[in-house]
Amino acid sequence: MSTNETINDMLPRLTEWRHDLHANPETAFEEHRTAAFVAEKLRGAGLEVHEGIGRTGVVGILRNGEGRSVGLRADMDALDIEETTGLAYASKVAGKMHACGHDGHTTMLLGAAIHMAANPPRGTVVFIFQPAEENEGGARVMVEDGLFRRFPVDSVFGMHNWPGLPVGQFAIRSGPMMAAQDTFELRIKGRGAHAGMPHQGIDSILVAGQIQTAWQAIVSRSLNPADAAVISMTQIRAGDTWNILPETVLIRGTVRSLTPEVRDRLETEMGYRAKLVAETFGASVEFDYQRRYPATVNTSLETDIARAAAETVAGADAVIQDMPASMGAEDFSFMLQEKPGAYVWMGNGPASGNRNLHNPNYDFNDEALSFGVQFWTEVARRALARNSDR
Ligand SMILES: [Zn+2]
Ligand SMILES: [Zn+2]
Repeated sequence: MSTNETINDMLPRLTEWRHDLHANPETAFEEHRTAAFVAEKLRGAGLEVHEGIGRTGVVGILRNGEGRSVGLRADMDALDIEETTGLAYASKVAGKMHACGHDGHTTMLLGAAIHMAANPPRGTVVFIFQPAEENEGGARVMVEDGLFRRFPVDSVFGMHNWPGLPVGQFAIRSGPMMAAQDTFELRIKGRGAHAGMPHQGIDSILVAGQIQTAWQAIVSRSLNPADAAVISMTQIRAGDTWNILPETVLIRGTVRSLTPEVRDRLETEMGYRAKLVAETFGASVEFDYQRRYPATVNTSLETDIARAAAETVAGADAVIQDMPASMGAEDFSFMLQEKPGAYVWMGNGPASGNRNLHNPNYDFNDEALSFGVQFWTEVARRALARNSDR
């Protein structure tokens, strides 16, 4: 590779790599081929490479003398979805697909590592290739495996493609950018009975309906309307036939919030209301609430660095600064709990034609590759060059 190779020169090769990764999707903690691919490209560019960080995670280090250090993170995992795009490079693995664009994320960070290795900025850049972003919290596993202890950074940055935002545009906001994601399971125990003689039982399905109403009233009536929150019941299981009132109902779902205060309130009130409503009808409940991902919260200084980098790459008009937070979740939040940093969205083009994230017809937009590589290079340069102390 010539040290004069421009990002444009790299694009055909990066596009080929992106398609290769797309055709060979791997899900949580099974990213062995992907991790080997990443490690090989990083070594080829002369970086120091560490594999097996957080099981299938890979870290590449680019050192150039004393100075600050910055972490740049991409996720590598795919989803359990059967692809319907019909593309020449569609998934070769039945039931698995890169439907969230992590193939593009991995490629862009690889491109940035290779580009920066040819002309390294002063200081240390830690390239973090993370497994298992979807559901399994690979970022937490990397952190627990000593990611920042072994490879210290002053700040850390993350990026996700965003369908609906034009290619060549970026969006960022200071403070909460994505929601905390929790899950719950509620077991309602009534008393089974003949459906024609309900007075002999305790109707657990009726109780489930009342609890659903009481829970949605937390969001609509108890929280400040300016505070965002979502309670979604996604599974209700009960009963086997027409003429029996079932003894139990199982309800599962997810809860989203942007602040610790709202998160605490939702957990407490859901448990409290479920118990009291059930008791009103003579039923009982078991309520299990699991905190999965914290909210993704950008620190203001690093938001400014990321915004300035995006403006350099895309122009000031192409950077949205007041994008509303998404109630989706992102495990980059675990890295932001450890280090100051920022997470940005980068345009993936129109979401029409079922090109939204997690849709079987989704595809990462290759026209965004160059913007991503440029953004990473610029954000690292700016974070390392910052001379003020926190
Ligand atoms: Zn996803
Ligand atoms: Zn994703």
